[in-house]
Amino acid sequence: MNDLSELYQEVIFDHYRRPRNRGVLAGANRKAEGYNPLCGDRVTLYLRIEDGIVREASFEGSGCAIATASASLMTDALKGKTEAEAQALSGRFRDMVTTSGPVWVSAPDLGKLAALSGVREFPARVKCATLAWHTLHAALQGENSTVSTE
Ligand code: ZN
Repeated sequence: MNDLSELYQEVIFDHYRRPRNRGVLAGANRKAEGYNPLCGDRVTLYLRIEDGIVREASFEGSGCAIATASASLMTDALKGKTEAEAQALSGRFRDMVTTSGPVWVSAPDLGKLAALSGVREFPARVKCATLAWHTLHAALQGENSTVSTE
């Protein structure tokens, strides 16, 4: 189990130091902003959705390691998903970080996103991990507004 947490930490630090899909997305047709006042994390999410499929996803913002890694991993995971699949993934991610029990039961198909499962042990960090996903929800709803975790 220790090896697994080390692997997970490595994934988080890698995505924090070198965030994937960072920057304004040219041709984005959905955008939403999220704010987590507890930690000060901010994220702006951009999506390009065509024919109901997320073709591109990117984010900007400043946040802690968990918030940044979550946005980076999320934007990677969203590409090629339908809007319904993206919503479903969001639900499974939230379940993973808010329920106890083995990750492989609650999140069998989350892939690298499972690296964030450790935040369950740190309730104050759960909102850092879910900020990008709250923002995704707003973007999929087409709300060009700021969502807050509070
Ligand atoms: Zn944070």
